[in-house]
Amino acid sequence: MSFPRIGISGVVRHWDEADRTGVNAAYVRAVLNGGGVPVILSPLMGSALAARALEGVDGLLLTGGEDVDPALYGASASEWLSPPSRERDLFELALFATARERRLPILGICRGIQLINVAMGGTLYQDISAERPSGIQHRPDGRRDSRTHGIRLTPGSRAAQALGATDFSVNSSHHQAIRELASGLLATGWTEDGLIEAAETANGSHWLLAVQWHPEELHAQHAAPEHGLFAALIREADQARLGSVTEGGEEHPIADAVQRGAKRGEPIGRSS
Ligand code: MN
Repeated sequence: MSFPRIGISGVVRHWDEADRTGVNAAYVRAVLNGGGVPVILSPLMGSALAARALEGVDGLLLTGGEDVDPALYGASASEWLSPPSRERDLFELALFATARERRLPILGICRGIQLINVAMGGTLYQDISAERPSGIQHRPDGRRDSRTHGIRLTPGSRAAQALGATDFSVNSSHHQAIRELASGLLATGWTEDGLIEAAETANGSHWLLAVQWHPEELHAQHAAPEHGLFAALIREADQARLGSVTEGGEEHPIADAVQRGAKRGEPIGRSS
């Protein structure tokens, strides 16, 4: 293993009387634990610089955060939508398109699975408790590392292979989720009542795996199966670095459109 560089998509937040940009320390710790070198990618740089930002990066981690703008999947904003960040949406769509083009392995977490699904043509529930009520609580009060609902993974899937388990409980901190799955993705993990909690590309194609829960928050649990997710990303990134990548031909129409705009120099990442 050669300490592959893992790009981690960041946020902009205001605290201690200043705008700050970075990522939750849990993502950095989880990547370090797995043997990767975390590279924090600020959305402030905008979509036009996303391809340049990924130079020398061997794998991409798309993180949790804001709701994705429903305009990106052809819906209007519902009353339950939390304010999206156009800056972050466009930056991450451009990161995603570049990572796909370069065949960099991609791990999506929480918002990450949603962003990937939208980039590839799928849609989201804007608020699962309003649009898909169920007895399962996906945003419970309490610690971010508490395992609160069960999931089941497809045996033999990338997710099951990485986690080394198929039935277990996960933490949960989301109010949105995949509605219509993009045609280039396979659902491989669900709650008991059928909500998608894991999605991935087919075995043998470009490596992409995404989960709806927060594996990074479980990094301190020594026996957590989630260590395997980061290990898998970093192993794939190591192989990508060494040039042993596999080929695939999946489509990602929204991300492609953003990428084409960025290549033409349109200031799409800088508006509103
Ligand atoms: Mn959940």
